[in-house]
Amino acid sequence: MTDKIKLGVSSCLLGNPVRFDGGHKHHSFITGTLTQHFDLVAVCPEMAIGLGAPRPSLRLVGKPERPRVVSSKIPGLDVTDHLENYGKRVAGLLDEICGYIVKKDSPSCGMERVRVYVDGKMPQRSGVGVFTKSLMDAMPWLPVEEEGRLNDPVLRENFFERVFVCHRWQKLQKKGLTPASLVEFHAAHKYMLMSRSQQDYRRLGQMVARVGKEPLEQLAQSYFLALMDVLKQRASRKRQSNVLYHLLGYFKRQLQSQDKQELVGLIENYRQGQVPLVVPVTLMKYHLKSSSNRYLLGQHYFDPYPQGLSLRNSI
Ligand code: SF4
Repeated sequence: MTDKIKLGVSSCLLGNPVRFDGGHKHHSFITGTLTQHFDLVAVCPEMAIGLGAPRPSLRLVGKPERPRVVSSKIPGLDVTDHLENYGKRVAGLLDEICGYIVKKDSPSCGMERVRVYVDGKMPQRSGVGVFTKSLMDAMPWLPVEEEGRLNDPVLRENFFERVFVCHRWQKLQKKGLTPASLVEFHAAHKYMLMSRSQQDYRRLGQMVARVGKEPLEQLAQSYFLALMDVLKQRASRKRQSNVLYHLLGYFKRQLQSQDKQELVGLIENYRQGQVPLVVPVTLMKYHLKSSSNRYLLGQHYFDPYPQGLSLRNSI
């Protein structure tokens, strides 16, 4: 038993010898840093549907929008339906996961740009692994990312920010959602949402304002789905800077002019790409300690995930 957040992971990324050739694709960030913070649940859909290792390699063929997963070596071996069904099964079994890291380029696990072979032509990079597609269809709110994309600091930060939003949402559900707690949840994510889009923040606010006018469960589900969709957007440096200036407005009276100038200087340094986001945010958090503004203190923007992940050090 563990209190750590659960993440699904393509088993080969954890170093398990489950690939078609009996090998693995060990990823040191996943087995190193992530095991400290998360409970990683290994899943190999191809092994789970009864293909052993080693096994014939598979690929996507046919219509790019709905390809089949077949073997190029064994005529008639088509495991599409098995993988689709297994994706649905995993969605039901792992309903407590808050994110999923998949192996890129795999006809079963890839999230995007998987090669699809069409009538002997050059393969198109337009497919989605059949297992992962089925999982994402069943859990459309679930943060899913490929191990290769996690090497991009912005995408990595975005993924884990969503994982922790998802976790907070699950905790809220377990505690028992109320109209007040839904409003509070939205308010506490204001600046995180504004780092994506002010317009979307307002749109979600309008959804939440319908509380009491429609069934809470239904409203909450639509809200969460829309929230997770908005958070997929990258938070650009320009938008993050706007958020920081917005937050600075709260400190205006509290800070001496010298402190204010220091903070403005760091926001500008960040905006121009000279320092990472962690620099102005850390100073702001320092000033926040002496603030009694409960609204600001409750903003997840300041601490979206454990500091040990060091995600804001490189964006
Ligand atoms: S990519 Fe997916 S199906 Fe292939 S070995 Fe890894 S976990 Fe198994």
